[in-house]
Amino acid sequence: MNRRQLILGTGAGLAAGTAALAGAAQAVSKPKPANDDSGCGGGTLKLCEYEPTNMLEVEKTEVPRARYPVIDTHTHFTFAAVVKKGVALSAKRDFIATPEQLLPVMNQRNVRAMVDLTGGYGQGLKETVARYQDAHPERFYIFTEPSYERFLEPNYPKVQAEAIEQAHRDGAKGLKILKTLGLYLRENITAGKLVKIDDPRFDPMWDACGQLNIPVSMHISDPAAFFTPIDRHNERYEELHDHPDWSFYDHDFPKKKDLLEARNRVIARHPKTRFVGLHVANYSVNLGSVAETLDRYPNLTVDIAARLGELGRQPRTARKFFDKYQDRIVFGTDAAPEDPEFFGEMYPYYFRFLETADDCFPYAPTKVPPQGRWNI
Ligand SMILES: [Zn+2]
Repeated sequence: MNRRQLILGTGAGLAAGTAALAGAAQAVSKPKPANDDSGCGGGTLKLCEYEPTNMLEVEKTEVPRARYPVIDTHTHFTFAAVVKKGVALSAKRDFIATPEQLLPVMNQRNVRAMVDLTGGYGQGLKETVARYQDAHPERFYIFTEPSYERFLEPNYPKVQAEAIEQAHRDGAKGLKILKTLGLYLRENITAGKLVKIDDPRFDPMWDACGQLNIPVSMHISDPAAFFTPIDRHNERYEELHDHPDWSFYDHDFPKKKDLLEARNRVIARHPKTRFVGLHVANYSVNLGSVAETLDRYPNLTVDIAARLGELGRQPRTARKFFDKYQDRIVFGTDAAPEDPEFFGEMYPYYFRFLETADDCFPYAPTKVPPQGRWNI
């Protein structure tokens, strides 16, 4: 092996190449890692089997409870019972955790209240409000959702606006928009052309929320990597490999940029309606752009749900962002507590990120980092 092969032969680049050179200079034959017959540094160890131990010895602060009581503004403990091609088609709800299961974890972690964004509509919403919000006031808040099953009714815009008013009378504290709008809802509900986020048929709905002064929490598009090919260059490769249906690359899906711009036109057109851009306005890989969006639209706030991995790998930029927009950022986790253990274990990761200056730690209580293999 010559000098050039030594340097180029390692995927890890210059540092590893230099180390290899130093080793070669001593002409010592080192034991090879198991199965290393591939000619590249990692051998044939499967990515899914790779579980490196972090050898960094730095401060480790346990934060089992939030320092201040928190409201988790982004959770899902109820879901639509009937979903076809990404569109909820019935008011019927599935309840994945009872208040009795949730409250002890909330008390333990200092979570004062949880907001269930996917509270549904109609009878399902009423049932959700009764079970959680009415039974445990100030611990649970329920949001409503659009009734896309009525989308083909001739006066849908008016019907939907009135449904929001009714939902508000039934106790709903806000409106949640899933990525269904933009990526799943089609002209014939589950077939035909995709309906645009800024389609004027929804204007009365956005206005109704403004008039009732209830927030609209919007999940628009998905992580940037989900709009790029599922290949070796994709930093979310493992997730997309396991869930190919999470990919919005190709087919007739719009570009991520177009989805965000359509959302921004909605926010601009309804200045009296308050919007919450979920998941750092769905663009956590570009906080500069999120900052511009916040500057442009005073009726927008953002949450940080399920984006510790992104915020935590750009700690200096994130810190500046948090300092500048501190009154425009709300706490949320995207917790779907069907797994009570994960639900309970997840909160300390948020608190550690938000409250300590610890370096280089995992962003989720999983064996493999779930949204890309890095620490924060
Ligand atoms: Zn969510």
